[in-house]
Amino acid sequence: MTGDFLLENRYHYLNNKVIYKYLMKYCKKCVYPMISVNLILDDEGICSACRLQEEFDMLTEEFWEQRRKKFIELTRWAKSKSTGNYDCVIPVSGGKDSYFQVHKVLEYGLKPLLVTYHGNNYLPEGQRNLDRMREKLNVDHIVFGPSIEILKKLNRGCFEIMGDMNWHAHAGIKTYPMHIAVKFNIPLVVWGEITWTISGMFSANDFVEYNKRTVFEHDMRGFTTKDMLERIKGLTHKDLVWLTMPSDKEFEETQTKGIYVGNFFKWDPNIHAQEMKKNYGFEFASQPFARTYRTMSNLDDMHENGIHDYLKYIKFGYGRATDHASKDIRSGYLTREEGLEMVRKYDHIRPQDDLNRWLKYVRMTEEQFDHIADSFRDHRVWWVKDGKWWKNNLWGDCSAYEDVKLEKDKISKYIRQ
Ligand SMILES: [Zn+2]
Repeated sequence: MTGDFLLENRYHYLNNKVIYKYLMKYCKKCVYPMISVNLILDDEGICSACRLQEEFDMLTEEFWEQRRKKFIELTRWAKSKSTGNYDCVIPVSGGKDSYFQVHKVLEYGLKPLLVTYHGNNYLPEGQRNLDRMREKLNVDHIVFGPSIEILKKLNRGCFEIMGDMNWHAHAGIKTYPMHIAVKFNIPLVVWGEITWTISGMFSANDFVEYNKRTVFEHDMRGFTTKDMLERIKGLTHKDLVWLTMPSDKEFEETQTKGIYVGNFFKWDPNIHAQEMKKNYGFEFASQPFARTYRTMSNLDDMHENGIHDYLKYIKFGYGRATDHASKDIRSGYLTREEGLEMVRKYDHIRPQDDLNRWLKYVRMTEEQFDHIADSFRDHRVWWVKDGKWWKNNLWGDCSAYEDVKLEKDKISKYIRQ
């Protein structure tokens, strides 16, 4: 069975019956299941993201030197276009990547304006990291925080609409900084990692830039403020202007463009985090997370590694421990066996304390939550037997997990013969 066949046939049929065993096939090198977003396995059973990492690992020092020179050209262009106080905007959450972006931009002599979308659920360590940037990096910083009531409505509403309470944050960090850049006529917006490498969609030679289409399709998952206004009560257009994009006309007039630092400098989050800790006092989480072993990521939202991630597991059968382990296996920080143990330990954990906090925040009962969450389960991953949710495991067998809370009339598609 070839990679092309798997790509074109997300469902596999034999005598008109779906062959489910192919759907939860895992990469032989990392720990990703095949159905994760845009992932394909090749003839050797290796996923596209692992293959892309191999491609990046082959890049020579000479290659990166050429890229560094291109970055210098870009900084010259930004300075020549800059008419106000700032040469570039850097969207920052205060995480390790944010520090690295600012660090690089300062190293090459640009005057940045930092812009933060604040979703109101920072961990204390994350908030301190964010506040520390102005002091340690000697930069100006705009923090935008929507009304708490609006954020609560978006949290609850987006969970109901798409099973993702943090959609506002994924969208807000991509839209709001562009408004600031356009408003103040700032030519360049400097993003961090090329986020789509996770699915192996782009190679080093694609030179991916920020564009409205990828933000709409990837970060906003095809949803817009129109969907929010139609489906969430008590929101007006004026409440959500920050969630829209600047118009094409505004982009054309200012010629603002968004680039990714990951295109110009070698990207290793583990090394960046240690360097940022040493140079600027970047803090890791002081308490371990319930659902992953890494303590350096996602400190800007306490639910990101908690109930938000648990929903990904409910939907697609894998969680952040799988993401982190896959990245760490590819970079040589974990063996596949060690990564597998992380997945076995963390992926299925229900983060009860984190869930309780979120339910109180948005005024929802746990029963309502379970009922809605179950409706998002992917029937390619989960099946129902004896009142329990079952799925295939990375380590070869299948197991029963939580009790089924879904209404009886919606269960038929989860029954396997
Ligand atoms: Zn892989």
